Amino acid sequence: MAGLVIANWKMHGSLALIEEFSQQWRGLPQLSEVDAVLCPPTPYLVAVGEAFEGLLLLGAQNCAEQVEGAFTGEVASQMLAEMGCKYVIIGHSERRSLHRESDAQVAIKARTANAAGLNPVVCVGEALEQREAGQQDAVVSEQLLGSLAQVPCDNLVVAYEPIWAIGTGRTASPVQADDMHGVIRQRLQEHFGAAGSEIPIIYGGSVKPENAGVLFGCDNIDGALVGGASLEAKSFWQIASAASAGRA
Ligand code: PEP
Repeated sequence: MAGLVIANWKMHGSLALIEEFSQQWRGLPQLSEVDAVLCPPTPYLVAVGEAFEGLLLLGAQNCAEQVEGAFTGEVASQMLAEMGCKYVIIGHSERRSLHRESDAQVAIKARTANAAGLNPVVCVGEALEQREAGQQDAVVSEQLLGSLAQVPCDNLVVAYEPIWAIGTGRTASPVQADDMHGVIRQRLQEHFGAAGSEIPIIYGGSVKPENAGVLFGCDNIDGALVGGASLEAKSFWQIASAASAGRA
């Protein structure tokens, strides 16, 4: 499979950044063997879709559980698909902690996204105390299976994001990340059968140009979900380029 790198701009960005980023991106060599996706804040989806048409795929950072109705402030998967989104991040640790999203809600969102033709990027990851207590495999396995209840495996992406590595500058070591991706792969195979071998498992947590090559050199790592380092075209391109090199 091609590498997959997803930029999560979170609640950062502006029309000026989109303009600057797209000009810089156009000046960089085109990459092969990698799908690069940009997930801006919702109000910028149209502008990003237009500015990066044919250059980057479009993604969203969240979607509603519901298909439509009286849900003020929510955005339906179908609407995202209509705006050109191909991917949607679901169950990011910030949504799980700040908005109390449960595994069951994540699973509903993933099913809704799948039904709308989107690729749901389901995020899982343990907290620092859980890793320090050696509970990470059990915690992530439980979270994963709960978040995938009745979710079809087609178009699914799993992102392993240890909470202690997100936005902290502290990356999981390649061995820690690769081991956990191996555990996730095993769970996916048990759950989906042979199709579980085809689901991309990407890593997120302070991925930067400096550590991307080593991470992508690991057998079980198929790409990255990138926060901070995705706000600069050059650094996101360098990460995408490392993913591409790992696949060539
Ligand atoms: C993220 O937003 O999912 C993330 C991994 O952020 P950062 O790369 O900044 O750690």
